[in-house]
Amino acid sequence: MPITSQVLPASLIEQLSAIVGPDYVKTQEDDLAYYGKDWTTAVDPMPGAIVLPNSTEQVQALVKLAITHQLKVVPSGGRTGLSGGAVAFQGELVIALDRINHIQQFNEVDRSVQCGAGVITEQLQQFASEQGYYYPVNFASSGSSQLGGNISTNAGGIKVIRYGMTREWVLGMTLVTGAGDILHLGKGLYKNNTGYDLMQLFIGGEGTLGLITEITMKLTTAPKALTTLVLGIEQLEHLMPVMTRFRRDLELTAFEFFSDLALSKVVEHSQLQPPFESKALYYALIEYDQLSEAHTELALSAFEDCMEAGWVIDGVISQNEQQAANLWRLREDISETIAKWTPYKNDLSVKPSQVPAFLTAIEHYVTTAYPDFERIWFGHIGDGNLHLNILKPETLDRSTFLEKCETVTQGIFEIVATFEGSVSAEHGVGLLKKPYLQYSRSQAEIELMKALKRVFDPHLIMNPGKLFN
Ligand SMILES: Cc1cc2nc3c(=O)[nH]c(=O)nc-3n(C[C@H](O)[C@H](O)[C@H](O)COP(=O)(O)OP(=O)(O)OC[C@H]3O[C@@H](n4cnc5c(N)ncnc54)[C@H](O)[C@@H]3O)c2cc1C
Repeated sequence: MPITSQVLPASLIEQLSAIVGPDYVKTQEDDLAYYGKDWTTAVDPMPGAIVLPNSTEQVQALVKLAITHQLKVVPSGGRTGLSGGAVAFQGELVIALDRINHIQQFNEVDRSVQCGAGVITEQLQQFASEQGYYYPVNFASSGSSQLGGNISTNAGGIKVIRYGMTREWVLGMTLVTGAGDILHLGKGLYKNNTGYDLMQLFIGGEGTLGLITEITMKLTTAPKALTTLVLGIEQLEHLMPVMTRFRRDLELTAFEFFSDLALSKVVEHSQLQPPFESKALYYALIEYDQLSEAHTELALSAFEDCMEAGWVIDGVISQNEQQAANLWRLREDISETIAKWTPYKNDLSVKPSQVPAFLTAIEHYVTTAYPDFERIWFGHIGDGNLHLNILKPETLDRSTFLEKCETVTQGIFEIVATFEGSVSAEHGVGLLKKPYLQYSRSQAEIELMKALKRVFDPHLIMNPGKLFN
């Protein structure tokens, strides 16, 4: 990826070094390229410098220095974001939270654990498991994304129908606002009705109000025996009846969807076996906790009912953890597999009941609009979230491809607005969805958001150009 250098003046670099130590100020080209971007490639990074503080106080000192020098700041987590939220493209100071990565003792009475914002999602999952508990927010980038980034995007993932989004799991946070103030919000309390809940503004705030440094996360009881089914489905309108039938008797922990083309790319790339011999146009992946033998009976009876109704043409159920993991990989490996085609990503959502009609409308539109491009559908449809990925043909250059996609995006978002859906279900707005915010939020709402930003970030230094201008 091209990177243009716009390193900060030496006098400023010296002052940054005085705060975090010279080893933790980075200005080498490869560091600027590494820390200056997220998973997206649409905008080239051009940060002014990277700093890696190790405490809330250091972060505060950096923000105060930034205010004095009118330096713009980009908070950077695990850089797996899919909306360009962590991209520094105009000489900003990147504050990377990687070093604030401690996990403190688990309080079993409170069922909570205090963590640094730089803790990797998977580390918290492992920590929870070692305590005999569970941190349920999970997605394909859990091995690299950080809790601070998860909170700032209110990440969702594969278990939302059972456990909700990241927001559900945050009990408290310490942060530094764009004004340079340290706030301790939430304080680990389950109940605290003392006026406006300011913490909620930072969840999904995309680093535009301040930098989160410490978090109190909630854990829950671990599932006993997660069991996975993959079902073949021929018609979009059968997806939701299948989910409803299974949910009638079982508490599902996931209901995921992928198309035949998504499956074939994963199978080709990973050497995994398809779930069964029959080929279907669409696949649903269902997960539930098999608490007793009775749950197997209930799942099999739901499966038989779906077959009889003609909603499902074939299916497979995992017999052990390894089989469940392999079935999950068919869904979880999609993003990484298609990354080499520089996909143009849409992260859309509607009410779950509207998924089939919405999918049909969008599919009809994009088939006409993108006759030459491969389209990969997958998503967390149990909660109404669909990912539409348009793959770049090898022969087309990146900018022509993006231009073509952007003209079609408008039409897609008009359909989203008709369904009163969201133009960004879980990836945030960042840079890439900013031009389309008005398809999901009213002008009055956007003005209120801007007014809130001015309260927490009066000098307008925090992640400028993201979410709105
Ligand atoms: C293969 C793959 C699969 C994915 N699957 C999912 C999925 O299923 N569900 C989902 O929701 N997302 C998914 N994502 C997107 C991404 O992983 C999430 O958005 C994740 O929460 C981002 O965390 P991060 O630490 O990488 O944040 P970053 O990309 O570093 O930053 C994201 C935003 O948060 C801000 N930020 C970061 N840290 C802080 C902080 N400490 N304080 C204030 N602001 C901060 C940044 O400025 C930026 O605006 C996927 C990404 C990939 C690459």
